[in-house]
Amino acid sequence: MPTGALPTLHRRFTAELPGDPSGEPGSRQVHGALWSGVRTTPVRAPRLLAFSQPLANELGITEDAMHDAATAAILGGNAPWPGGVPFAANYGGHQFGNWAGQLGDGRAIVLGELATPRGELVEIQLKGAGPTPYSRRGDGRAVLRSSIREFLCSEAMHFLGVPTTRALSLVATGDDVVRDMFYDGNPKDEPGAIVCRVAPTFLRFGNYELPASRGDVALLRQLVDFTLRHFFPLLAGTGAAGAGAFLRDVAERTARLVAHWQAVGFVHGVMNTDNLSILGFTIDYGPYGWIDDFDLGWTPNTTDASHRRYCFGNQPGIGLWNIERLAEALFPVLGDGPEAERAAGEASDAYRNTYAEEASRRFAAKLGLRFDAAQDDGALLQAMFDWLGKHETDMTIFFRALSREVRRPQPPDALPAGVQAAFYRAVPDEHAAAGAAWLRRWWSRTRREPGTPADLAQAMDAVNPKFVLRNWLAQDAIDAAHGGDTGKVHRLLRVLQHPFAEQPEHDDVAQKRPEWARNKPGCSALSCSS
Ligand code: AMP
Ligand code: MG
Repeated sequence: MPTGALPTLHRRFTAELPGDPSGEPGSRQVHGALWSGVRTTPVRAPRLLAFSQPLANELGITEDAMHDAATAAILGGNAPWPGGVPFAANYGGHQFGNWAGQLGDGRAIVLGELATPRGELVEIQLKGAGPTPYSRRGDGRAVLRSSIREFLCSEAMHFLGVPTTRALSLVATGDDVVRDMFYDGNPKDEPGAIVCRVAPTFLRFGNYELPASRGDVALLRQLVDFTLRHFFPLLAGTGAAGAGAFLRDVAERTARLVAHWQAVGFVHGVMNTDNLSILGFTIDYGPYGWIDDFDLGWTPNTTDASHRRYCFGNQPGIGLWNIERLAEALFPVLGDGPEAERAAGEASDAYRNTYAEEASRRFAAKLGLRFDAAQDDGALLQAMFDWLGKHETDMTIFFRALSREVRRPQPPDALPAGVQAAFYRAVPDEHAAAGAAWLRRWWSRTRREPGTPADLAQAMDAVNPKFVLRNWLAQDAIDAAHGGDTGKVHRLLRVLQHPFAEQPEHDDVAQKRPEWARNKPGCSALSCSS
């Protein structure tokens, strides 16, 4: 690849699936097609603010190519990426529990597919590159604050090992975008930005729901065949059997994903079916947040503040609800009535079983244990959850502290200082005593694990991150970037590439939420306005 040049894109999605014959501008209902050809809308002054070096490497794009002005123009939507047929995908979705009809990529434009040096095809997508037929009343743009949040969190999740779409670049557009951040009649100009997202596919549950809702079974079947061919080649069976295997696989992936979210304290915030990936990736970072204190009722999304449908503790149940909606959408391709019913039931069971196993396994691993129901580990975990939720206790700091406690030669008499450091406020003596009692119970259980205490500590540090993208850290980096300094964005990007390493020089970004951030917009309260 010559310096300064990006590799030519492929056209798999647009070549193999029916597209919208109309090239008309303006929002519209699109029938009989899974995508619409679109053009990115140029911006005033595209400027590369940050990029993910590890992802660029994986894609075979050199550092020189990333820094080339021609690349900023492409990643800002001012010039075409050679080879691709840019498109916006047509999908629907259930939003906050209700069928919302056609939604589609209103501000995301897929430029085409890139062949990685490992021989995989990945979609390259610009988010915020201008309107599409699916923009409805939106402007097709994204603001810098939400773009920084998506850029940083995608990469942070990847390095935590959580399945996710990736983010290659963050480009400032040089244009302002008007947003009413809290929908309270206070619109403001904000700097615009574009994130280049990367994933094998951005297909969501909603891509299948839309043709199903319109009774377009032929189109649905085409999409399912395409999906099976390219993304689930190892699944046995075609036709109804293939579709059933696909549904079960998506159910299992989604269950594993949500269990992983719970284990690291990630709250997606908008688990609508148009925001759930069929590959079980974390997708569409909007008003997401990280758990500071272990509060199952917490949601970062002010749009959801009254119902708390998507709060931390509801995520596992919502994952299942969404799988049920996907099953309904796939009904016409799952066989005759009873056959389809059976496939749907199996998928729900697969979700429940996989979630239960994965959540137990992951939380036990955080305690240095291989989950064993026979040793009453379920009760040990439940007692921990009950205790953690009672008085504001930082989830990340609590778990990270345990690798020190597991090395103790004797069980602790009182609650150790490292664990007390996770409290946000002073706690009653009985609560501290209950914590110490729980620690003794856990400590004794760890003695029945194979491996030395040092081995257990090492294994625990490899699953309990020291660094997560705490809401206040992201907001702090955003505030600095608004003032023209992207140094904090770059620093977080680097630190979060090694979330399990000690990195003592970065202790200040492993701190619990400072008091100023308790109720600050962007730290505790986020809206869908982005
Ligand atoms: P989200 O809540 O971000 O998942 O978005 C839901 C739907 O609204 C999707 O179809 C988005 O593409 C669309 N959308 C969100 N923001 C905008 C915007 N600024 N312009 C156009 N469409 C948007
Ligand atoms: Mg979305």
